[in-house]
Amino acid sequence: MMAHLITLIPGDGIGPEVAEATVRAVEAAGAAIEWERVDAGARALAEQGQLIPDDVFASLEVSRVGLKGPTTTPVGGGHQSINVALRKKLGLYTNFRPVKMLPGLKTRYHDLSLDLAIFRENTEDLYSGLEHEVVPGVVESLKIITQHASMRIAHAAFEYARREGRRKVTAIHKANIMKMGDGLFLKCCRETASHYPEIPYHELIVDNACMQLVMRPETFDLLVMPNLYGDIISDLAAGLVGGLGIVPGANMGDHHAIFEAVHGTAPDIAGKGLANPTALMQSAVLMLAHIGEREPAARLQHAIEQVYAAGEHLTGDVGGKATTTEFTEAVMRCL
Ligand code: NAD
Repeated sequence: MMAHLITLIPGDGIGPEVAEATVRAVEAAGAAIEWERVDAGARALAEQGQLIPDDVFASLEVSRVGLKGPTTTPVGGGHQSINVALRKKLGLYTNFRPVKMLPGLKTRYHDLSLDLAIFRENTEDLYSGLEHEVVPGVVESLKIITQHASMRIAHAAFEYARREGRRKVTAIHKANIMKMGDGLFLKCCRETASHYPEIPYHELIVDNACMQLVMRPETFDLLVMPNLYGDIISDLAAGLVGGLGIVPGANMGDHHAIFEAVHGTAPDIAGKGLANPTALMQSAVLMLAHIGEREPAARLQHAIEQVYAAGEHLTGDVGGKATTTEFTEAVMRCL
């Protein structure tokens, strides 16, 4: 059996801990993977003098598929986000985040079987990185919305909805205020929706959407939105199903895909062996399905769910006492 080449970017903070745990679990699930490990992020900057060294792109050019841990982005100055740079350079325009309740996990909403799919536009909006000081004391940050990017995320969302038999699509926006920018986004969603008449289509203003997600999350199914709202709503939705330790993600383009958790580097717990690797493990499940390794993907997902259902080896963020390694070994015993 030919092994699949996967670019592994462990990242910063808890990244290397959850990446190591995930590699062990993927291998125990029986997937034939050859990992090519490359560094990007704060560590790469310190050791190699580059945030995204050339070997990262060289590896992804061959493998086309990456598994990535979180990377540090300094606040209010310093270097540009590595994620934004990778997503733009590789054309990873779809950020897909499935938000699903795990069996047995006690959350504020554990009586609801939540299963949301978030489609976040991944290349533009306020993440264009275009900011300048007009005059001292006045800064302009440019929000870019294009028809091209809005059409392709809407298309990705509706195609997924049709393929997976989702019950409805909700576009999230603030077109009452940003009448042109978010107005264009909505226009693209409406036009796309007209080609999928069997899928009910709704629109919701982002502030109202936040309130309704907290009050009635079970009424949502698939959500599609521009970049910034997608960033915020992803964390809100993660909070509904147990937090950032849980929710996986996929950054998809026409030629490349990078799988990574929603969470960041968690500096408060980094290096302590406490991080929950579930989110990256579930990202690896998406990755395995993407490369056609459906059986190992199903095995790994089932093993994660068994560990949650038993509830004996959970990490601190979800109410347990287990370390990263103890949780990982519990998953491996279920494989
Ligand atoms: P964060 O997601 O790192 O942490 C928020 C909270 O959630 C913390 O209390 C943390 O301990 C907890 N948490 C997150 N993941 C966890 C896990 N797997 N297990 C247990 N607890 C977990 O968000 P932040 O503190 O706002 O950001 C820290 C850094 O991460 C920043 O530099 C930010 O730019 C970066 N970041 C990177 C990515 C990425 O690379 N994809 C995404 C988000 C944030």
